Amino acid sequence: MLNTAERTRETQPAPVSGEDVEAVGKARGIRNEEPLIFEIGRAEVSGVDLPEPETVTSRLGGLARKAELGLPGLSEPEALRHYVRLSKQNYAIDINTYPLGSCTMKHNARLNEKMARLPGFGDIHPLQPLSTVEGAVEMMQELSHWLMALTGMEAIALSPKAGAHGELCGMMAIKAALDARGEGETRTTVLAPASAHGTNPATAAVLGYRIETIPARADGTVDPEAVKAKLGPHVAAIMLTNPNTCGLFEPDIMAIADAVHAAGAFFYCDGANLNAILGKVRPGELGVDAMHINLHKTLSTPHGGGGPGSGPVVLSATLAPYAPVPFIRMEAGAPVLVEEAAHARDGEQPFGRMTAFHGQMGMYVRALTYLLSHGEDGIRHASETAVLNANYVRAGLRDVMTQPFGDKICMHEAIFDDRFLEPHGVSTLDFAKAMIDEGYHPMTMYFPLVVHGALLIEPTESESKEALDRFIATMRGLTARVKAGEAASFKTAPHFAPRRRLDETRAARQPKLRWKPAG
Ligand SMILES: *Cc1c(COP(=O)(O)O)cnc(C)c1O
Repeated sequence: MLNTAERTRETQPAPVSGEDVEAVGKARGIRNEEPLIFEIGRAEVSGVDLPEPETVTSRLGGLARKAELGLPGLSEPEALRHYVRLSKQNYAIDINTYPLGSCTMKHNARLNEKMARLPGFGDIHPLQPLSTVEGAVEMMQELSHWLMALTGMEAIALSPKAGAHGELCGMMAIKAALDARGEGETRTTVLAPASAHGTNPATAAVLGYRIETIPARADGTVDPEAVKAKLGPHVAAIMLTNPNTCGLFEPDIMAIADAVHAAGAFFYCDGANLNAILGKVRPGELGVDAMHINLHKTLSTPHGGGGPGSGPVVLSATLAPYAPVPFIRMEAGAPVLVEEAAHARDGEQPFGRMTAFHGQMGMYVRALTYLLSHGEDGIRHASETAVLNANYVRAGLRDVMTQPFGDKICMHEAIFDDRFLEPHGVSTLDFAKAMIDEGYHPMTMYFPLVVHGALLIEPTESESKEALDRFIATMRGLTARVKAGEAASFKTAPHFAPRRRLDETRAARQPKLRWKPAG
């Protein structure tokens, strides 16, 4: 992190018209500049009174600390204000619509939080004897049952800790199956469409696969003929997202699955977009062999800023034997947690393990609470509402923004391109930054890569018609300003955020992650 002086220097606003400049780096209204916690307070201040320690003889010898510890010294109200002020510089689904496409930023019901904090779930330790956590294991079993039933799959690995981690798990199961068939060495290629999320080719590359890209059709979907042209005895798997990252259901998914299987390869489905089809379609029936489910997207749980995540993987009958430990086996009607590969039985050939323990217990509880409180009909309703909301946004904006694949019904996310911006000298980035001034987190931009200057909007089922109308009105207002020739003010947006245009490339390449005391 930069210290305040550096930050202020680096974020000096470009000169713009009007008084907006005054807002940056200074208090205006209730938007306060907030230094780092180490830059405020005084060493001698503390929020708590501790008794003087008894005289003790140090046994640290030469290792005893000689310099000051350098802890921040704040009173309780100072510390509280610091963090509350910081929280006000943040954006959250609990503040307003969070239209980030592909991320499924939906409401996390407070009931889910309450359940996750029940002492029997929240206060247990992964090394506790199993006999003391039977209820927690049963909860994991019930979640597993729901996830397998809803996806029509045979087995599950609960433990992966993110979507990308789930991809790795699923692809390792595929590799184990190929190894068992004696084809692990010869099937060295993974196919991925050009619209794929970056984690798909990255996962395949981590496992040493060569990646071949399948170009998108003009309508944004994958052509089975293009897949067939790439298939052969060297192909291990295809990694396909459905609905795809353009927000479209792949109409030829079953023909693709058949072709992949006929060529002896596996079908990995990126299930991050399950929010559109849960309760409507069982991916197992489409021919999927392995698929991760982003619990933090589809089944609530707050996420963002890097975590937490949970990416259980469901597996077909062919891949089921290779599921990693730990897994749950039913014995005499009771769930038993199998934690060691050595405890595997006939037919179980776990490829290893993905995590030290059992994964994200709190997220399992939230996901199961979400499923149980919605019920089968409620889950279907949620998917339908997510799709309806995306189309409502699409219909509300289609006359002022441009759609890359024509005026087509979408699934859970609506995609636009930058053709409505370009003639006016405004980029997708400029437009996104201007949304911040209007009180919205920007939508996903420049993804998927197959759409020029993409603007990907996913409202989710959480939003009311009133919230969607407000969002649409705001977006229409911005497009009107674009067309009125206000490009200059877009170029310098946001004007009302605590930070303005940052050097994001430099921040990513040369991050300053540690505060160092001055001098
Ligand atoms: C979010 C997402 C992923 C990766 O999931 P993480 O939990 O962020 O690792 C993969 N594919 C798609 C389509 C996604 O939207």
